[in-house]
Amino acid sequence: MDMTTHPPSSSRDTADAREASARSAVKPERTRYALPHSGGLRLGTWFGIEIRLEASWFVIFALLTISFAGNLSIEHPALLPEIRWPLAVGTSILFFGSILLHELAHSLVARRRGLEVHGITLMLFGGVSHLASEPKRPKDDLAIAVVGPLTSAALGAFFLALAQLLSPLPLAKSVVSWLGFINLGLAAFNLLPGFPLDGGRVLKALIWSVTGSAERAYRLAIAAGKFVAYGMIFAGVFMAFGLHWSYDGLWIGFIGWYLLSGAQASRLQLTMADALRQHLVRDALRPADAIVRPDETLAAVVEAWVLNKGCRTLAVSEGGKFLGLVTLHQIKELPRSSWASRMVCQIMIPIDRLITIMPEQNLLQAFQRMSERQVSQVPVVSDGALIGMLSREDVLRVFAIHMELNALSSKGS
Ligand SMILES: [Zn+2]
Repeated sequence: MDMTTHPPSSSRDTADAREASARSAVKPERTRYALPHSGGLRLGTWFGIEIRLEASWFVIFALLTISFAGNLSIEHPALLPEIRWPLAVGTSILFFGSILLHELAHSLVARRRGLEVHGITLMLFGGVSHLASEPKRPKDDLAIAVVGPLTSAALGAFFLALAQLLSPLPLAKSVVSWLGFINLGLAAFNLLPGFPLDGGRVLKALIWSVTGSAERAYRLAIAAGKFVAYGMIFAGVFMAFGLHWSYDGLWIGFIGWYLLSGAQASRLQLTMADALRQHLVRDALRPADAIVRPDETLAAVVEAWVLNKGCRTLAVSEGGKFLGLVTLHQIKELPRSSWASRMVCQIMIPIDRLITIMPEQNLLQAFQRMSERQVSQVPVVSDGALIGMLSREDVLRVFAIHMELNALSSKGS
C-alpha cells in the first residue's frame, strides 16, 4: 500500500481550517437540515428549518425603526417618546416577521417539492432561503418562486383589511396600514422580472418551460436582472440629483447596486458550472494526508502522523479497502492516557457514515454534492479503495486555472 503524506501546514490558521474541514466531511446524521457554520445569530428552528440573523440585519432593523418612529412623530405629534419607540420597535419586528413568512413560504414549498432546505437567513435586504440544489422541473421553480410574493401580497391585504376595522384607534390603524402597504410593496418589488428577485425566477421558469433549456432560461433571467438593476441605479441617481429626493434616491440606487451584484454572482455561478462540468474529480484530487491501519493504537498514529507530519485527518485502510476517517479532533476528545490502549477502528467514522465521491464523476457533480451535504471535503473512492481526498479548495483551484487558461487562449486567438 502506498503511503502518501501531505506537507504539514506551518500556519495555525490553515491547520485549524483543515481540521474543521475534516470534521465536516462527516455526514450530519441526526440534523437533516444543518446550516453551514456561518456566522450570525441562530433564532431557532421552525418546521425543521433553521432561522438565522446576519449581523447586517441589525443595521436595517435600526434604520427601519428610526424611520418609522419619525413617521409616527409626524402623524401623531402628541405621542410620548416612551410609547413611540417601543411601538416603532414592535412594528419593525412585525415587518421582519412578514419577511420571515415570505421566506418560510419559499422554503416549505421547496421542501414539499422534494428539495432539501438548509435554512433561512435574515439580512440587510430581507431574507434568503438556502436550498441545497436547484429545482429539477420548471413548474417546481415557478411554484417555489411565486409563493413568496403571494405570501407578502396576502399579508398586505390582511393588514389593510385589519386597518379598516381599527379606524376607531388611529394609532393602531397607522401601524397596521403601514404594515399592509409595505407588504404589498414587497410583493410588487419581488415580482420585478430579473434575477435574483423572485420575479426573475418566475421569468426563468416560464422561459424554461417554453424552450426546454434551464440554462438558457437562467442566462436570460440574469440578463433581465442586470437590466432591472441598472434601471434602479439610474432611477436612484435621477431621484437624488435631478429631483433632490436624496434619501429615496440613495435607497433605490443602493438596492439596484445590490441586485446588480446578485445578478453578477449568478452569472459567475453559471460560468463556474460550465467550467466544472469539463473536469473530472480524478484530475483535481489530492493524496490523503495519512493512511493508517484500523488495528494501530491512537498513541502510535499520533506519534507517526500528527506529531511528526502535522496531519489532522487520517484515512483508515486495510488490504486496499478504505474503512473510514479519524480526525485529530476526535482523538483530542479522548483522555491522553487512553491513547495507548485504544485502536483506530474503535473511534473512526466508518465509510457508511461518510459522503464519498468517485474519481470519474465531474467536478460539478462533486461540488454540488459537497454543497448539498454541507461538507468541505470528501474522500474519493473507487471499488472500495481510497484514491484521494477532494476539498472545495481543490475544486476552486481547478476553476481558477480553467479561467486563467481561457483568458490566455482568448488573448492568443
Ligand atoms: Zn422571495
